[in-house]
Parts: sequence; structure tokens; C-alpha cells
Amino acid sequence: MNPAPAHWIEVAVQTPAHSGVGDLLSYRSALSLQPGQLVRVPLGKREVLGVVWRVDTPDPGLEAAAVREVAACFDGLAPLDAHWRQLMAFAAQYYQRSLGEVALSALPPQLRDLDGGQLARRLKKLGAIDHITVGAAPEPSAEQAHALEQICTQGGPFLLFGSTGSGKTEVYLRAVQQALQAEPEAQALIMVPEINLTPQLEARVRERFGEQAVVSMHSGLTPAQRLKGWLAAHSGAARIVLGTRMAVLASMPKLRLIVVDEEHDPSYKQQEGARYSARDLALYRGQQCGAKVLLGSATPSLESWQHSRPADDTGEPGGRYLRLQMPSRIGAATLPVVRRVDMNHQPRRTVLSAPLVQAIQARVQRGEQSMLLLNRRGYAPVLYCADCGWKSECRHCSAFRVFHKIDRTLRCHHCGATDRVPRACPSCGNADIAPLGRGTEQLEEHLSELLAGVRRPDGQPVRIARIDADTTRLKGALESQLAAVHSGEVDVLVGTQMIAKGHDFRRITLVAAVNPDSALFSSDFRAPERLFALLMQAAGRAGRQAGQGESEMLVQTFHPTHPLFEALKRHDYPAFAASELAERHAASLPPFSHQALLRADAREQSISQGFLTAARQTLEAWLAQEDGGAEVLETVSLYPAVPMSLQKVADVERAQMLIESPSRKQLHRALSRLQDVLHTLRSDPAHKGVIRWLLDVDPQAI
Ligand SMILES: [Zn+2]
Ligand SMILES: [Zn+2]
Repeated sequence: MNPAPAHWIEVAVQTPAHSGVGDLLSYRSALSLQPGQLVRVPLGKREVLGVVWRVDTPDPGLEAAAVREVAACFDGLAPLDAHWRQLMAFAAQYYQRSLGEVALSALPPQLRDLDGGQLARRLKKLGAIDHITVGAAPEPSAEQAHALEQICTQGGPFLLFGSTGSGKTEVYLRAVQQALQAEPEAQALIMVPEINLTPQLEARVRERFGEQAVVSMHSGLTPAQRLKGWLAAHSGAARIVLGTRMAVLASMPKLRLIVVDEEHDPSYKQQEGARYSARDLALYRGQQCGAKVLLGSATPSLESWQHSRPADDTGEPGGRYLRLQMPSRIGAATLPVVRRVDMNHQPRRTVLSAPLVQAIQARVQRGEQSMLLLNRRGYAPVLYCADCGWKSECRHCSAFRVFHKIDRTLRCHHCGATDRVPRACPSCGNADIAPLGRGTEQLEEHLSELLAGVRRPDGQPVRIARIDADTTRLKGALESQLAAVHSGEVDVLVGTQMIAKGHDFRRITLVAAVNPDSALFSSDFRAPERLFALLMQAAGRAGRQAGQGESEMLVQTFHPTHPLFEALKRHDYPAFAASELAERHAASLPPFSHQALLRADAREQSISQGFLTAARQTLEAWLAQEDGGAEVLETVSLYPAVPMSLQKVADVERAQMLIESPSRKQLHRALSRLQDVLHTLRSDPAHKGVIRWLLDVDPQAI
């Protein structure tokens, strides 16, 4: 008989979020294993991938026979290092998820299907660490040189506040170069919000440092590509990782610099599973592994702006970040003139005002391009019966189904339910039912009617293109439509916010915000911040090239004197930030407080809300009995449960409860106790109807 394996290890494996299984599972191993090694272990009837987390001495209390044996070990692969494991542990703890879930979801899925031999062959193909060569680069401007000198000599984190066109990308590339040349194996991570919207950046990185040195990491890659990129980063063969939010979790043993481009972008926040903020994790990761962190934006998040405030004369200390400013645009291009069109003085129900139509006409006649930016809200037409008032509601959601003219369907944008357009009103039989409100499609039609008589300089009629979620559903569709705009095959581009992000449209001299007002009075306190960022970004798209006619931005609004538009007119982000921060301060909203959102889903709203209310009451009762609990109760506010603004989706009723505190530490004490409360309540038959709950720490939308 073989002697019992001598080594006892604790392994992180993927367990369902609320399964109640402890974070780590114990196994025995005949081999001596190290923390961070990848193993295959039996779990129930399956065999799963795991990460060795701790190596223990045998626990005399545990029967050897009760502990199963490790099935296989990937010994060809270097262990995941202590920094990476610490990052996973922090993310799991901070975002209130299980360690196994966070750690395993950070690994490429294909790793689960490989054996040691297959992995060894893949590793062999990667080759040696790349010694980078650096391609030709433009001379830095004085502002760029100053920023780079600070990045080189100071510790950071840095907030690079540079207007659109100020050359932030060149600063990123040179900072990467500095970091990589300072150490033969150093690695750099460059994060972007959405990679398919920024192909120019990827092209520039590859051109500067060579194909070999760079790997991409984003959800658009095939499983094989993801594995290859991950292995290259983990082994050090890749010196640069360029990726979306998931890249912040990559194993990069020699990470020395993290760049977060467009750091204010909401897509850095994961919206399912562990709802982490990749920007915030980048800051933690940099501090913990000694990598410098460079955040960049023309319209920083108010959090980063506040954290990078300089010390003032009154003795108030400055923030933790170092703010680097680059106010000038490179080259002769100036920012467009912002004009507000007061919609109170336009005929009722005007969609495209006379000044806007005239401005577009002038561009078409000069052979220049225009971009019309739509706020999707209000541009999703529903079907309406004028006789009985019926509207095309979704049976499964508290939302209307949207009329899609192109295939004559009614489609729910929340649950996907799709039906043919009915011949008559389902409620009263009236055959005369019509769309209510204009969609992006209708706007495009309306625009072509208004511009029907206008001719381009070559005598041809105007060419209008629409880019939104509907026209870009097919893979590659967005890229080809953008290419058409770039090559000048389009005169007027109509679209939702996706067209304002990142693209470098050199021939656009007119940008118009058609209906920006709804964000001014939104229940979401971050809506004005998002709108301002979007409009500033859109303004930056206009007039990027010298030698064109006057470039301008037109804003159609019923509130022309609103401070947001006043600041926009002056391209004055600091003024906008100051007024917005003053409001946030007065209302104790982030960054002056910290929030978490607990959501519960059930078939009935009363069950969802009942669960949240019970959670609040139980937590309060528990804390009242515990040492230090009074302090938590004093500083943490638990708000009443309310239905979510989109209350029902796919027949599931959703409710939420806001938890808020000026102290992050106290908030987290409350949250970790709340987890215990939720597990206890879940086993109570009174809450049997609860389908799921989820906790969002630092939520981006409320
Ligand atoms: Zn009717
Ligand atoms: Zn629906």
C-alpha cells in the first residue's frame, strides 16, 4: 500500500457565488507544491482547475481519508506570484465575492481544458522575452516633456489631465518606453475602455514597440488567442499588454507601469459577477506591486479630480494623486465654438432646429462632415393607438417594446422579446396604430427629407449614415461603417454615444447634440458628469485638422443657461468639476461618501423588497449586539428598499437598497456582516421566493 501523500494544500476553485462553500478547499498531494501553482482537483464528481493558495502542515483533526488527492499539477507553468494572489484576495474581499470565483475568472477559460503536455507545447511556442526596439516617435512638446519628467521622477499615481488632441497617447507611449528600458524584463499594461472603438491606439502601440512585444486582452478574442496572450503575459514574453478592464487581472510578474486611458469611462466597471472597477483595481495593484499608475482623461471622473486636487492656501492638504496638466492642443487645430440653440424659441415639437439644419447644409455644400449625437432616450419609438391609448408594452418587462421599421417588428431592448407588428390595436381593434416618438431610423429619414435639395461640391446628393446598436450588431459592421466615415464616403453621421468615443474623424467640422437635456434632471446623480464628458469628447472630434472652415458644436437645449452648458461653451472642465463637486459635497454623495447597492430579484416585488427589508433589520439587530457594532450603525446609513427604476425585466421583479457611509472602512465592516445575514436569511423559508441577490460596491448607476 502507498503511504498517504504527505503534503496538505488549500486550493481556490470556482464555486458558485452564493453556494456557501468555504473559500478554499483542502486536498492532499504526493508532490510538494507551491502557492500559486495551477492544479486539477476533484470536486464532487468533476475534476476542476484550481490554484494552490496555501501549503499546510497536516491537520490532525482531519481524517486523511476525508481529504481527496490532487489529480494533476501543471508543473511546467511558473506559479502565479504573491502579488497576483494578493490582488485576487483584495478584489474578492472588497467586492464581496468568493476568492475562487475571482481568481478562476481571471484565468483564460481554455486553461481548464488542457493537460500538462498540451500546455507545455503552447508555452514552448511563445519564445523568449522580447527585447524591445522602439520605432520613430515625434519630438515631445514642452507640456508632454514636463509630464514625462514628473512620471519619471515622482511616485504617482498620476492623473494626466489633457484636452482632446493634446497628445496624451504620446505621453503614454513614452512612459511605457521609459519603464521598459529601465529594466530588461519590465512589463507595462495599457488599459482602454473598449478596444474596437480605439483601433488607432492599438496600431500606434504595435507600430512603436513591434508586434512581438504586444499582446491584446479583451472579450472579442477567441479562446485560443486569449490563452496565448495570457501565457505570454504570465511568462514575461510579452512586454506590453493592451486590453480592456479584464486585463487588470492578468498575471504580469514584472509589471512596472499601468496606464488607464479615458479613466472616467463607465465601461471600466464590470457589470456582472464580481463587479469590480478596473481603474480602482489598477490603483491598488500599482501600489501593491510597485508599478506606477498613470490615469488619463480630458474629463476625469470627479473621484480622480478630487483625489488629485492640489493643496490650497487654507492649509487643506492636497489629494493622493499628482495632477499633470496638458491644456494645449497639438498643431493648429482649435476647439470648436460651442453654440446653444434655445429650443424654447423653436416651433413646438421641433426635432432638428433651423440653425442646425442650416449648419449641416453649409457643411455638405463645402464637402465637410457633420456628426449628430443622439441621446438614445426619447429616440426609441413605441407603437401607439390614438383611439384607446394602447402602447406597445413588453409583457415581461416594465418597459415598452420598440418599433423597428426595417423588419416591421416590435422588440424589447431589455429581454429581447420580438413580435411582428400587429395589423390592428390588440386592445380595441383600431387598424390605425402608429409609432409615437422618433427613433434614430426616423430621424435619419427626417434628415434626408430636410436635406433633399442640398448638393455636395461634386453635385451629388448628400450621403447620410447612422451608427448605433442596431446597425452594428453584426461582427465587423462597426469597423466597416467607421472606415466609410474616415474615407469621406459619408457627409452626415447620425448616432448614439458610441460615435463620440475615441474616433479620430479628421474631416468633421460640425458636431451637434440633438437632445442632451434628459441627463440634466436624471435621478442618477452621475448623469450630468457623463453628459459633460460625452459632449466634451464629441466636441474634440470636430476641427482636428487645420485649414478647414470654422468648426462648431451646436447644442439644442431648453435650458441654455444651465451651468453645464456654460462650462461646455468655455471648454472648461475644471469649472464644471468645481460646481458639480460642490453639489456632491453638499449632498454627501461620492467622492465624499462611499456606497454599495444590494439588489434582490424575485417573481413578486413584495418578495424582493421583503428580503431587503429583512436584511436591513437583521443586520441592524446583529450589529446592535456586537462589539463595535454601534460605531458601524452610527456611520452607515441603510436606506429603505425600493423598486429599481427598471422594475421588471423578463418577468423578474427587482428591488434595491442603498447602503452609504462617509467611512469606507465602516461601510466594509457592514458589508461583510451583511454577507452573513444574507446567507442566514436565504435558508429561511420566508424568503424562498428570492431568485438571487447581488451586491454592487461603488455602483456606477443608482
Ligand atoms: Zn386601441
Ligand atoms: Zn421585455
